[in-house]
Amino acid sequence: MNRDSLLIGGRWVTTSESLEVENPATEDVIAVVGRATPGHVEDAVRAARAAARAWEEAGPQRRADLVAALADRLRDRRAALIDATVAEVGAPVTVAAEAHVDLAIEIVASAAKIGRELATEERLGTSVLVRRPVGVAACITPWNYPLYQLAAKVAPALVAGCPVVVKPAELTPMSAYLLADAVQDVGFPAGVVNLVPGYGTDVGQALVEHPDVDLVSFTGSTRVGRQIAATAGARLARVCLELGGKSASVVCPDADLETAVRATVDSATLNSGQTCSALTRLIVPREAYAAALDVAADHARRIVVGDPGDAATQMGPLISAAQREQVRAAVDGAVARGARLVAGGTVPDGLDRGYFYTPTVLADLDPADSASQDEIFGPVLVVHAARDDEDALAIANGTRYGLAGAVWSGDEERAMRLARRMDTGQVDINGAAFNVDAPFGGWKDSGVGRELGPAGVEEYLEITAVQR
Ligand code: NAD
Repeated sequence: MNRDSLLIGGRWVTTSESLEVENPATEDVIAVVGRATPGHVEDAVRAARAAARAWEEAGPQRRADLVAALADRLRDRRAALIDATVAEVGAPVTVAAEAHVDLAIEIVASAAKIGRELATEERLGTSVLVRRPVGVAACITPWNYPLYQLAAKVAPALVAGCPVVVKPAELTPMSAYLLADAVQDVGFPAGVVNLVPGYGTDVGQALVEHPDVDLVSFTGSTRVGRQIAATAGARLARVCLELGGKSASVVCPDADLETAVRATVDSATLNSGQTCSALTRLIVPREAYAAALDVAADHARRIVVGDPGDAATQMGPLISAAQREQVRAAVDGAVARGARLVAGGTVPDGLDRGYFYTPTVLADLDPADSASQDEIFGPVLVVHAARDDEDALAIANGTRYGLAGAVWSGDEERAMRLARRMDTGQVDINGAAFNVDAPFGGWKDSGVGRELGPAGVEEYLEITAVQR
């Protein structure tokens, strides 16, 4: 891919600055794209502001029709989107297809459906509640699921009536360009969707500080999320923050241990462990600890790591050299503090080029250890033993994160009792499937606000109560 322009006010605007995109499986530069500056942010926000009134007045049906058309145009580009995801993220082709591209398209289609059913006025006693778009939304996304993250912000913002300025992660702008091409094909009004790829510290920050940005929807690290909340808070702009996680998979004594452990290893290693909601802590009954470690180690060792373009590959590389160093340091540190390395902890044989790392299982750590508390964002599972359900729950809730979780039990009511007490935004019982319409977001350090489904659209609406 070779692109030297930014989408601002409905036009491709040429820029002399550029970003190089590296393929993390080969370390080759595979794309050069335009890089925005704070001056471009100014232009993009002005274009979005200028489009806001007409976009609000277009009404929910018209907006939903265009967003539905966007889902269709993305479907037309499915193959190119999968190729871009494999190339820029290093996600295996099967994961790129299902967890990145198809899910993203489903989210855009779901937002269109919700937009059609949007109640902009509702009676409440003597009041009429009028729901209106918040205004201009800045969408700042991370590199781990580039298309999905954009879809989960842009589509609900658009159906709610908010023009958007999109800043994708600097490591993975290719999916964003393909999304912008689809936007142009659909024929959204000029200025409703603007694309300004660039670095967080200049372009991202300029967006967050801009007085004409009414809402910042950010997905990324807790560290940057805190900075954004502080900056936006100073001018009372709304924020929606989807941040880190250290999610627990709690296995009850009456669960199918093998199924639960294998599924947890799969979750911890999906997308090379670079998934915010990954189940990275496995909590099993004390009596089942040794057996669980055997299953986890066996399963981790069987995961096929290698060329993400090969359909047989289950796990590709990490996103960058820096990310692999971070993962390596976290694992080596845990081992130095007494963790038992049950599987992995190395660079796979024969994969010297690219940022590969083996699926890793750590045991015998105190739940308070930093490897059990801090997000590693690599294919690393930490296993703990619990005395009983209460102890398991205490370990599960004993981190500063609260994004996702899982409970496994032969008794669904028992699982539900535990799920109700987990301090997290989502809990899956016995491997239940992801629901694109269910609110997704975090408690505690995992964030503020929700994405997806009707709750995701609500984030972009303001309410005026009219008494009559
Ligand atoms: P990051 O916080 O470094 O960057 C995320 C985005 O913010 C990028 O586009 C970056 O350029 C931009 N940015 C950086 N500094 C900024 C600033 N000062 N002002 C404005 N924008 C700025 O995160 P990352 O390394 O790209 O992604 C990994 C993190 O994202 C992990 O912690 C992961 O858990 C989290 N994440 C959370 C979710 C969720 O839904 N909760 C989903 C995926 C990833």
